[in-house]
Amino acid sequence: MRSDSLRITEIFYSLQGESSTVGFPTVFVRLTGCPLRCQYCDTAYAFHGGKQWTLQTILKAVAQYRAKYVTVSGGEPLAQPACLALLSALCDAGYIVSLETSGAMDVAAVDPRVMKVIDIKTPDSKECQRNLLSNLQHLNAQDEIKFVICSRADFDWSVAFIKDHNLEDKNLLFSPSHHDITPQSLADWILEDQIPVRFQLQLHKVIWGDVPGK
Ligand code: SF4
Repeated sequence: MRSDSLRITEIFYSLQGESSTVGFPTVFVRLTGCPLRCQYCDTAYAFHGGKQWTLQTILKAVAQYRAKYVTVSGGEPLAQPACLALLSALCDAGYIVSLETSGAMDVAAVDPRVMKVIDIKTPDSKECQRNLLSNLQHLNAQDEIKFVICSRADFDWSVAFIKDHNLEDKNLLFSPSHHDITPQSLADWILEDQIPVRFQLQLHKVIWGDVPGK
């Protein structure tokens, strides 16, 4: 395998469904493969398969769209070492770049121009033991930390995690796990407990449902 190539599941253009850039037209580059198996995963189709692309062909495919925003996602994009070069190349090309990562891989070498959206896996994800806590030392002002909440116990665990790790002043995202709790339950808990997090739904699913490539 060439060091400047990556295994890609899909490149597509949609509305950003999550994070502080929600709603903006965005090109998504979905890398193949993930070492985790979260119980709620909605991108299991990206675990295997895909095709090998060079950096140059990825940049060309992204440039087909008139987008300011590019999100590199997965799977777990950082499982492929060439992801770091891809992120820098996209920044060099003038895009506003974000990275969606599981929080299980070291983000220290990610280009500081990239907005990192780092998951903290909760107990009910069944991958909580994979959280790489050293990543919390590599947060820039624009980075965001995301908790996918599957239960009231997950909610309480996440609130305690934020306090224990002094994350109150960070950009914090709480999302309901689609099949586990209702959006209203999570919204009510956030308001009742008065915690300073951003509630989010996956906008693309509200619009298009569970369709790959959207
Ligand atoms: S880290 Fe993301 S892609 Fe990997 S199993 Fe979990 S939800 Fe799925």
